[in-house]
Amino acid sequence: MSIEIRLPTALRALAGQQASVAVEAATVGEALDALFARHERLKGQLLGPDGKLRSFVNVYVDEDDVRDKQGLQTPLKDGDAVLIVPAIAGGSPAAAAPELTKEERRRYSRHLLLPEVGAEGQRKLKAASVLCIGAGGLGSPLALYLAAAGVGRIGLVDFDAVDESNLQRQILHDTPSVGTPKLESAKKRLAALNPNVTIETYEMKLSSANAVELFKKYDVIADGTDNFPTRYLVNDACVLTGHPNAYGSIFRFEGQLSVFAAKDGPCYRCLYPEPPPPGLVPSCAEGGVLGVLPGVIGTMQAIETLKLILGIGRPLAGRLMLYDALEQSWRTLKVRKNPDCPVCGKNPTIKAPIDYEAFCGLKEKTPPVIPEMTVEELKAKLDKKDKFVLIDVREVHEFEAARIPGSTLIPLGELDKRHVEIDRTVLVVVHCRSGARSARAVQFLRGKGFDAVNVAGGILAWAERVDPSLSVD
Ligand SMILES: [Zn+2]
Repeated sequence: MSIEIRLPTALRALAGQQASVAVEAATVGEALDALFARHERLKGQLLGPDGKLRSFVNVYVDEDDVRDKQGLQTPLKDGDAVLIVPAIAGGSPAAAAPELTKEERRRYSRHLLLPEVGAEGQRKLKAASVLCIGAGGLGSPLALYLAAAGVGRIGLVDFDAVDESNLQRQILHDTPSVGTPKLESAKKRLAALNPNVTIETYEMKLSSANAVELFKKYDVIADGTDNFPTRYLVNDACVLTGHPNAYGSIFRFEGQLSVFAAKDGPCYRCLYPEPPPPGLVPSCAEGGVLGVLPGVIGTMQAIETLKLILGIGRPLAGRLMLYDALEQSWRTLKVRKNPDCPVCGKNPTIKAPIDYEAFCGLKEKTPPVIPEMTVEELKAKLDKKDKFVLIDVREVHEFEAARIPGSTLIPLGELDKRHVEIDRTVLVVVHCRSGARSARAVQFLRGKGFDAVNVAGGILAWAERVDPSLSVD
């Protein structure tokens, strides 16, 4: 029987970063034995010295805890998925979490009264770390509530200074802090609120070069950005590092909320594969925003973040909540994981952060500038045996009639699906008959993060100026 064992983020490091492992087994016990035979380190984590599953490890088959069935003897059918769910807060078992001081017991007493939190949950919060992207409208209530709740380590990424127009909604900052870096006033405010919390500040623009390394240092990422390139970057870096993203966004009187990149959950790209064209959706600076709105959405992001850390309730993964302040209404929509998602799908094509400014169409003016090379330059590159790929986007019959040596055929109409076949680590040179179709191909590929260049004049120019023996209709 072919069985899929799904691993939570916290255990993937012990299994070669795999989200799931396929094994042959007839019972849960056999499936786990097969898993452990392949990944020794998992065995050490999940089995006690007596060879039994440790008590903080739950195993599920089809949403049922195997303890409610026949334990390790629970039979499996072909295609069953076995889920391993350890009680883990951001990668650290509660048992390893720090004890609470007397002062903390007093401070968090209303949490300790909740059976769902309690001293154990509060210790999980103390051991946890959250990275807030942005210390603005959403970041303000988010960071304030996370600090108040006792999340042990809070990271803040921002590079703006406090502007007078921020104070209408960004409640981390105050009038005397106008003109100073946002991180400075945020750190001061959060430290005054809860001195038990460590505040780590990163005064920089989050970029493809720094996001992955930074995200690895935190358990949960909370996206409070206000622009599309950063939003896609945060999403991709969350998927790539296996960290959930408590996501919120706001505009005028409306807000959106979800948890992306959670275990087995969809990501932002599953919901929105492509960003809107530049200029279609104005920013808060251009379109305005009701001052209280980020208070509602940022606070909800804080709730989702605490739930993720505590492992309680039903996270908002797979659901998108829409808030309308004027109607005073919430709507919840289902979001499905897209198996063809370029970053979290079965065959991901994005394996490292890409150029998000280009992806969001912010680099090119309209009409976009398509980088070009001449046929003479192409000939020189071919002669020098430079490392690059040459793609011909004409139709099959055109390719069969005449072609430039070394070219690979991907007709323009198939590029949408087949661009995944192209090596994205090298220069991609694209040609067609006269240069028009390939210009569109280059624009598309650059939007996907390829370093693509068009051949001006196409194979017609090649036949005229480089290889007159070639006959092109
Ligand atoms: Zn996805």
